[in-house]
Amino acid sequence: MTQLDLGIPGIRRDLTRVPSTVGRPGVPGLVDRFGRTARDLRISITEKCSLRCTYCMPAQGLPSIPREDLLTATEIARLVGIGVRDLGVHDVRFTGGEPLMRADLAEIIGLSSAVAGDASISMTTNGIGLDHRIHELVAAGLTRINISLDTVDRDHFARLTRRDRLPAVFAGIQAAKDAGLTPLKINAVLMRDTLAGAADLLGWSLANGVRLRFIEQMPLDADETWARDNMVDAAELLDVLGVRFELTRPHREDVHSPAEEWLVNGGLATVGIIASVTRSFCEACDRTRITAEGTVRSCLFGDDETDLRGLLRDGADDETIANRWRAAMWGKQAGHGMSLPGFTRPVRSMGAIGG
Ligand code: SAM
Ligand code: SF4
Repeated sequence: MTQLDLGIPGIRRDLTRVPSTVGRPGVPGLVDRFGRTARDLRISITEKCSLRCTYCMPAQGLPSIPREDLLTATEIARLVGIGVRDLGVHDVRFTGGEPLMRADLAEIIGLSSAVAGDASISMTTNGIGLDHRIHELVAAGLTRINISLDTVDRDHFARLTRRDRLPAVFAGIQAAKDAGLTPLKINAVLMRDTLAGAADLLGWSLANGVRLRFIEQMPLDADETWARDNMVDAAELLDVLGVRFELTRPHREDVHSPAEEWLVNGGLATVGIIASVTRSFCEACDRTRITAEGTVRSCLFGDDETDLRGLLRDGADDETIANRWRAAMWGKQAGHGMSLPGFTRPVRSMGAIGG
C-alpha cells in the first residue's frame, strides 16, 4: 500500500483509494454531485515559507516535505495542461506555502503557461523577494498576482508574522506595480488583533492604488487557536471602517466573485470582503486544488485526497490522469459546514493545503 507523509507529524494517508464515479455524467469538466463545475485551479508548490503568520503556520514552520515527494516543474505543467485542455480549467493560481521559496518558480510558470492556452496564470504570495524576481516571472508568463498584507504597522506585522519583514513586502508590492501587474490585489486576513489597524490598511491601499480585500479568518491555523466566538466577522469590520470611510454597495456586482465589494467614499476605489465563514459561498465554489505532493483536494475543508503523483510517475496517460481528477471532484462535499455543531477542522493547515 502506498502511503504518503502529508508533512504533518503523525498523519499518514492511504492514497491508493480510487474515488467512486457512480452517477457521474460522461462530461469532460470537473463536475460534482451538487451541480458545480470547477474551473479555478489552485496549485500549492511548497510548504516552505519566509513568514510564520499566526493564523496559518506553526512558529517552527511546517515539517519539510522530502524533495522527491514534491511535484517537479514538469509534473506541475503536465497537470496544468491536462486541467486546461481536458478538464475546462480557465484560471491557474500558484500558491503554497510561499511560492517564491521555490528556486524553479520561473520554470514552473514558463512550462505551465506554454500549455495553458487562454487560461490566466497567477500567484498568491507574501511578496518577500518578489522585487528580485518579478521580471523573470512576468517574462515566463505570470499575468496576475495577489499579495497578502494584514497590517501596515511594522511592529504589528512582526508580531503577526513572527518576522520583521514589512519593508520587504512593500518592496515586493512596488515591484509588482512597476512591472504592470495591475490591478494589484492585496489580501488581508481579518483578526481581532488586526481590526484596529484595518482603516489604516484601507487608507494605505487607497493611497497606493491597490485593491484591498479582507478575508474572514478560517479554522485552518496550524496552532488551532481559531474560535468561532472570537472571530471577527464582516459586519464588525464594516462598523470599524465606517467610522473613517463612507462605504456603499455598487449598483452592479460580479456574481462569480466570493468577495462582496464596497465603494469607498463614493469614488472609483473599492474594498472587498470575503466572508468565507459567515456568508459561505460553497454553493458557487468553482475551485479544484492540487497539493504540493500531487494530491487533488476537492474542498479546503475536506480531508479526502486523491493521488495524481503516483499516476504521473507510473507513466499513466493524460486520459487516465484526467479521469482520476474527474472522479476526485465528483466526490466534492456540499460545503465546509463551519457553522454546524459537528464541524471538525481539516487535518492539514492552510500552509499545507495552499490557500
Ligand atoms: N504565502 C502566500 C501568501 O501568504 O499569500 C500564499 C499561501 S497563503 C496560505 C494563501 C492565502 O491564505 C493568504 O492570502 C493568507 O492570508 C490566507 N490564509 C492563510 N491562513 C488563513 C486562514 N486561517 N484563514 C483565512 N485565510 C488564510
Ligand atoms: Fe506563509 Fe502565506 Fe501562511 Fe503567511 S499565510 S505563513 S505568508 S504561507
